[in-house]
Amino acid sequence: MAKPATLEKHSHHASDVRFASIERYSSVARTVEILSDPWGFLVLRECFFGVRRFEHFQSLLQVPRTTLVERLKKFTLLGLLKKQIPAGGGARHEYRLTDKGRDLYATMIALLAFGDKWLSGDALPPLKLIHKSCGCDCTPHVACSHCHAEIDPRLVHYRDGPGAGKAARLENRKRSRRASDPTVLERVRPCSVARTLQIIGDRWSFLVIREFFYGVRRFDEFQTRLGIATNILADRLHRLVEQGVANKMLYQEGPKRYEYRLTEMGRDLYGPMLVMMHWGDKWLSEGLPPLKLRHRACDHDFHAVIVCDKCGNELEAREMSFVARYSLPAELAAA
Ligand SMILES: [Zn+2]
Ligand SMILES: [Zn+2]
Repeated sequence: MAKPATLEKHSHHASDVRFASIERYSSVARTVEILSDPWGFLVLRECFFGVRRFEHFQSLLQVPRTTLVERLKKFTLLGLLKKQIPAGGGARHEYRLTDKGRDLYATMIALLAFGDKWLSGDALPPLKLIHKSCGCDCTPHVACSHCHAEIDPRLVHYRDGPGAGKAARLENRKRSRRASDPTVLERVRPCSVARTLQIIGDRWSFLVIREFFYGVRRFDEFQTRLGIATNILADRLHRLVEQGVANKMLYQEGPKRYEYRLTEMGRDLYGPMLVMMHWGDKWLSEGLPPLKLRHRACDHDFHAVIVCDKCGNELEAREMSFVARYSLPAELAAA
């Protein structure tokens, strides 16, 4: 079986685990950290659905006031939202996505496409996406920015970028708790993005998945690379197997030894990871991406984009519309 994308060349001593683990803490992790806070995620999601006023966020999400104040402040400081007086005047402020915030659209769509494909069960996905420029129902794909071909992890080559080793962590480390509570994440709306975040939104699960994409398969190796406690690692691997992201396989008899491999579903997380990496590179790395990617299929450096499966063009928020296959409670939908 062909190996998934591996970090082919590592310019630092493998024994320097601490350094290696920091260096590998790429832009994807920074992006996941923003999205993996459940309330924060809900606020951003509703921004993409056009919610702008404090009272509307509050009534729609039933979020405690202080929590909402705190999240709006955080996103404003991070430069994802801007607070402004509405165009028509009026005393109440609105919160609008900045360019940086709006640019998370590709990430949201990549997470949504994964959730639609793998986590909708027998039901139709909650949203039907329509690409207005081609007029078609659209299933977004993650593709190469240069050739627009869908990305196969085996055809991606990594090398250190100018920001390698400089990856400062975005937030303090106090949140090592498990994946977000689904009843919070899907509050108000069924949501494929939220379902995907239940898999990757937990910091350790996310890091384990990322190591899979570097070719890691064995317990000891995950542990060495991540500096993760054995009980936490065992728990996360167990969960990933339960969720269908990885398989546990016997590779040696007497003593029995196991290794873990991504399933087809797990490998499909590669696209969303690359899209998140691009956002992190663009907005959180001060122009110094920790990793550079090359697409072997077209032999060009690239970043991940999302394209329409029907017309092959890159998807932009303003060219998209959607039909919800669920209904909001009437008193909430208005406002
Ligand atoms: Zn390409
Ligand atoms: Zn299209």
